Amino acid sequence: METKMMNIKIEKAKTSKINQVDFNNLAFGNVFTDHMLVCDYKEGSWKVPEIIPYQPISLDPSAKIFHYGQSIFEGMKAYKDEKGDVFLFRPTDNCKRLNISAKRMAIPEIPEDYFMEGLMALLKLEKDWIPQTPGSSLYIRPFIFASGTGFHASPADEYKFIIAFAPSGAYFSGKVKVLIEEKYSRSANGGVGFAKAGGNYAGQFYPTQLALEKGYNQVIWTDDNTHEYIEEAGAMNIFVRINDTLLTAPTSDRILDGITRKSILKIAQDEGIAVEERKITVAEIIEAANNGSLKEMFGAGTAAVISPISTFGFRDVDYDLPELSDNYATMLKNRITDIQYNRAEDKFGWRVKL
Ligand SMILES: *Cc1c(COP(=O)(O)O)cnc(C)c1O
Repeated sequence: METKMMNIKIEKAKTSKINQVDFNNLAFGNVFTDHMLVCDYKEGSWKVPEIIPYQPISLDPSAKIFHYGQSIFEGMKAYKDEKGDVFLFRPTDNCKRLNISAKRMAIPEIPEDYFMEGLMALLKLEKDWIPQTPGSSLYIRPFIFASGTGFHASPADEYKFIIAFAPSGAYFSGKVKVLIEEKYSRSANGGVGFAKAGGNYAGQFYPTQLALEKGYNQVIWTDDNTHEYIEEAGAMNIFVRINDTLLTAPTSDRILDGITRKSILKIAQDEGIAVEERKITVAEIIEAANNGSLKEMFGAGTAAVISPISTFGFRDVDYDLPELSDNYATMLKNRITDIQYNRAEDKFGWRVKL
């Protein structure tokens, strides 16, 4: 990385927890590494980040995060190849998106060199925590929240930017059964759906619980205005294959601009697949399911990369998707992960080596 190096102070943990971790049985995001990066925003500027032992944070009860939800995050991964070299996938895109989220939530933007240098310094220190078992990776969670105090409903004057790491196993969601949602909405025009703002996800939990009670694993969000267009699959972008064309909803105020989504679009085009970024109606999916032209549906996001959908429910009817041997989902997942794990040429320049 070409930046003027900051002097990031490192306070090392007295003992490491790494020997207590079973790297062959990692779940997703519930084991944390020995250190974290912390950067404070005070008196109008971001201070030099520090690396300290992973630990709880102490906050005033009136911190605005608790009351007004000024909080944003990112999700990314570090991958280790067979030789033990470490790579990130399009990391500056995560930084840019964190700042898009920051702006919308009236949170001060984090300078890109603070983000990248802080991340690289923490990665160097925690390199041994990056799993090498197939499909495993180090999940990276950068986030910013309002630590500033006061019950007044206005932006805080102090914030914390933190990066924490969680070594995570291969994310096998299995084949998911989804419910097309017509009552609740994830986001609205002019709202914050395009931001990774904490409250967006809290707002999804209840409708998702209702879907789980009905025997589905996930909700397909439709547009808030008409509920005629499908927009996202839970907290993933949605893809639909009708005949041999791959469709995805266009990004907007309501739809998050996923890095997996845009990488899939690029790779699909590179494979010569017809790709359309356009509004997709529930009606056309039902028609395609009924006439046999609906071949695949899948969610796309950093955690699972691609999560194939086996069944979708709409108005008390379940529609099953076929099991294709030459499906796009597997091919696209292999092509992306081969780039991420340094098993294939990086023809689009997406990999960044530690
Ligand atoms: C994070 C996220 C995605 C996927 O984005 P990636 O950059 O691919 O991880 C899609 N939709 C929502 C709502 C998200 O929060």
